[in-house]
This record gives sequence, structure tokens and C-alpha cells, in this order.
Amino acid sequence: MADSPVAERELLSLPHGPAPVVWRRSARARRVTLRIDPARGAVVVTLPPRAGRRQGMALLQAHSRWVADRLGALAPRVLFEEGAMVPILGVPHPIRHQPEGFGGVWREDGEIRVAGERAFLARRVADWLRAEARREITPRALDHAARVGRTVKRIAIKDPRTRWASCAPDGTLAFSWRLVLAPPWVLDYVVAHEVAHLVEMNHSPRFWAVVRALTPHTDAAKAWLAANGARLLRYG
Ligand SMILES: [Zn+2]
Repeated sequence: MADSPVAERELLSLPHGPAPVVWRRSARARRVTLRIDPARGAVVVTLPPRAGRRQGMALLQAHSRWVADRLGALAPRVLFEEGAMVPILGVPHPIRHQPEGFGGVWREDGEIRVAGERAFLARRVADWLRAEARREITPRALDHAARVGRTVKRIAIKDPRTRWASCAPDGTLAFSWRLVLAPPWVLDYVVAHEVAHLVEMNHSPRFWAVVRALTPHTDAAKAWLAANGARLLRYG
């Protein structure tokens, strides 16, 4: 990425209300743009090489209502804490702290149980969800890859902000841990999509034919991610 942060997030007073703003400078950008970053609950202003903060401010002022509406429409942030509802494969599970328990984090009676000190609860849940994501994604990826006669070199679990997964030329597949929050058929589609890139490193009709041969959920999953993807970025 050519993007680099110019400044930390700041709270600006716009005509339609206060807005957290993150400034970015991009060597590739052609014009000043605004986008909403659900993970940070902020509007990101991207400045091309010769544009200044003044042009960014002008665009923010001109689109102040859009910014306020979009920020206001974001799902509330769900922190990993006692009682928080966290979906696993689309099924909501409350977090229950069991300070006297053993075994770190486990699932029991439809709940996410967390042992140990409260101060470490959020970190433990986050680590556990990453591990769950790997456990759910790995067999699906290996299965899909076997069906198209390819091998997965490595599976990386990450937390990207603007994509759900990627496929590197060396055969490494990377996935967002947040996919484990989504229904299983959505996860299955994203895995099929990346495995299909082991066959076709593009988004040509041939690529989509491979995806559709691997999973029947392509259209429904794409629609689900478009409607609900931003919500997944609000956990943790
Ligand atoms: Zn793709």
C-alpha cells in the first residue's frame, strides 16, 4: 500500500455534527476522497500528493451530511467483555467470565466462557476467535483446493480493514479472523473464492466458473457481505 497516515485520528466539528477523521496521504490517489472506515468508526480523508489539508476540509464540509449519516448508521462497537454477544458462525454467543475456571477460553451451553483475570478477558477472546477462524477455515481450504487439484502453501489469519481475504502468488491464502463471525456459508464462499485464485489469478469469467463449481453460495454470500460486512468490523 502506498498509503501512509499523515496524522492520528482527530475529532472535527462539521456542520452536521462532530466526526472522527483520519488523514491519509496516497502517492497513487488522483483526487481527494472520503470513505467511512467501520473498524475505526471514522471518516478517512485520502489526499493525493499535491493536495493539502484545506482541500480535504472543503470536501468534508461539502459532504458533512453524508459523513454524519454514514457514521450514525454504523453498528455499535461490541467490545469483548462480560455479557457481550459475539456471533460464532452466525450464531450469537454471550461472553461469560469465569474467573475460577481453567482452560483459557472454551464454548459451553451456547456461551463463550473465559477463565482468568478480567484484565485479560478481551485479549483472550480475541486470540481464541483467531484460533477458531483458523480451525474453521483450514479444512474448508484444503478440501476446496483438493477439488481443483491445487495445494495451499500456507494459511494466514489476519485483521485487514478493507478486504476479507487474499491469495498471494506463492499460494499463501490470508483470511480475516472476522469471517468466523459470519454464517458458515459466507465463510465457505470466501474460502472458495481464494482457492479459485490458485487456479485463476484474476476475476475473469473462468475464475467465477471455478468459484461457482466449488460453492453454491456465491451470490447470497456476496449480498450478505455487502449488507453485513461493516458490522463484522465493529467487534473487539
Ligand atoms: Zn478475488
